[in-house]
Amino acid sequence: MITRFAPSPTGPLHLGHAYSAILASDMARAAGGSFLLRIEDIDRSRARPEWEAQIFDDLQWLGLDWPEPVMRQSERLPVYRAALQELWSRGLLYPCSCRRRDILEAASAPQEGGAPVMGPDGIVYPGTCRDKPRPVDMPAEALRLNVRKSLEGIDTISFQENRSGPKGECGTIDIRSETLIDSIGDIVLARRDMGTSYHLAVVIDDAAQGITHVIRGQDLFEATAIHVLLQRLLGLPQPVYHHHRLIRDDAGKRLAKRDNARAIAKFRAEGASPADIREMVGLG
Ligand code: GLU
Repeated sequence: MITRFAPSPTGPLHLGHAYSAILASDMARAAGGSFLLRIEDIDRSRARPEWEAQIFDDLQWLGLDWPEPVMRQSERLPVYRAALQELWSRGLLYPCSCRRRDILEAASAPQEGGAPVMGPDGIVYPGTCRDKPRPVDMPAEALRLNVRKSLEGIDTISFQENRSGPKGECGTIDIRSETLIDSIGDIVLARRDMGTSYHLAVVIDDAAQGITHVIRGQDLFEATAIHVLLQRLLGLPQPVYHHHRLIRDDAGKRLAKRDNARAIAKFRAEGASPADIREMVGLG
């Protein structure tokens, strides 16, 4: 079993991250496998070296270890570019120049039924740029996946959920292609400012690191169908998924990056031990 923890260095690690990282490490250890760390720093406008340093420090303090060097997504842009190029040459991508406001307006138009449909990445894209003439060479613009075309000849997308989705979904999860087309729309695979996207990078890197079990929060359960579709399109192996419960604050809200009140660093400064953190997240 190979598991991973894949934080973005855009803020302090909080109890939710501690839970995810400890769980992934414990599961690998119990199975005699390996636990890997990957730094997901493709969002250069938000990633900071000091947050990355704090991630290493907090995880080491928690008693976790991992092989060095760690994979860092900001160093892998050529790999993502090559995958985009392949999908482009198969006619599965198109450039999109829509701004957030254009998408909201188009998706709210009366002929679209009024209220925009929400998917894992926000408003489901109404397809404005899909049928515009495509340049011969892949441009350095935002690129969307033509999901309907990508699913041609595929009836159902399936994956194995060994823990549970937010509604208790577990076992073999089957999603019909028509449902997927309506619920995710043509997702962005390369952001203009990044040259890739979370979905593309995560799928390529889980495969590159040989991850067999993806352990992560239930907030990413809905995005998993996108990942499985990309694995199929790129001929990558499909890991088993374990989506775990989210750690919530006293009001029942899931912890956010900016929720410094639950930062591991804060508990450390107040004298908590790693065992106390395990206890707090229910892994004591
Ligand atoms: N980098 C993502 C995050 O910090 C997690 C990605 C994943 O586990 O698939 O939320």
